[in-house]
Amino acid sequence: MYEAIVIGGGPAGLQAALTLGRMHRRTLLVDSGEYRNGTVEHAHNLLANDGVAPAELRARARTELVAYPTVEVRDAAVESVVAADGGFTIALADGEVVRAARVVLATGVRDELPPIPGLAAEWGRRVAQCPFCHGHEFAGRAVAVALDGEHAEMIRRMLAPLASEVVVIPPGSIERIVAEAEGLRIETRDGTARSVAGLFVAPTPSQRAPFAERLGCRMLPSGAVEVDLVGATSVPGVYAAGDMAHTAAAAGPMVSLAAAIAAGQMAAAGVVRDLTSATA
Ligand SMILES: Cc1cc2nc3c(=O)[nH]c(=O)nc-3n(C[C@H](O)[C@H](O)[C@H](O)COP(=O)(O)OP(=O)(O)OC[C@H]3O[C@@H](n4cnc5c(N)ncnc54)[C@H](O)[C@@H]3O)c2cc1C
Repeated sequence: MYEAIVIGGGPAGLQAALTLGRMHRRTLLVDSGEYRNGTVEHAHNLLANDGVAPAELRARARTELVAYPTVEVRDAAVESVVAADGGFTIALADGEVVRAARVVLATGVRDELPPIPGLAAEWGRRVAQCPFCHGHEFAGRAVAVALDGEHAEMIRRMLAPLASEVVVIPPGSIERIVAEAEGLRIETRDGTARSVAGLFVAPTPSQRAPFAERLGCRMLPSGAVEVDLVGATSVPGVYAAGDMAHTAAAAGPMVSLAAAIAAGQMAAAGVVRDLTSATA
């Protein structure tokens, strides 16, 4: 029986496993290899790692875990998590069933992209959602914002100090996006076209895995799992971290590597505190 199972091997899950390993807790990390930033070649805004390839960051984190013998890492998908006998029974897709006293859900979200031809191929490269992650790379050049209403205005104003020009285009008016040598050409339904360095859109996120809802964890209007400051969900023994969860006081998750890492560490600390209290 593991003391903790961490489901998810993105930044939140990897950090949770590191923290649990440093506290010598018998931990299994399971990773199905589906990362929100899977198409991203260079991630930014992470101290001492600005511009790092997310795959390299994950690989380095896995290497660091090797130093902690109580942590086991498995490349597999979890199929179900069921509360039973004071712990949790977890079924893996390869047929194996494991038991754990505590669960850290770090399964992230998946993004449904606006259905604009050409957009998906540039997602995470020249099409982005977050000016903190990708804005500086377009500095001094024209960028487009394909959003509606207040959101469009907010992103436009955020980008104004960076870009030479910010063009707001109603998403429904875009016919297709074509990659150019130094940027994108945005063709609109009225027959006009505009070349820009990059484009900002709003994908629709949803939980990548169903475990939190199936376990009965309280969900928030954003679609995320409600957690407290140490990542505890409303279900005893179940913790959540990363893009899939946030506190009720926040409007949504702070979608970033640094925030996911911090949340993973807090959730693991919560698990350690919980396990320690249980054996006192
Ligand atoms: C296009 C794009 C660009 C971004 N750029 C930046 C950037 O430059 N800087 C920055 O700070 N942030 C950036 N972000 C945000 C950042 O990538 C996320 O905040 C972060 O990756 C979230 O980490 P996570 O651990 O919560 O989830 P993920 O990294 O999505 O990890 C989820 C994990 O759960 C696993 N999983 C899911 N279901 C199962 C299952 N059933 N069984 C086993 N494992 C499962 C997956 O395989 C994966 O390992 C970007 C996001 C996007 C979409």
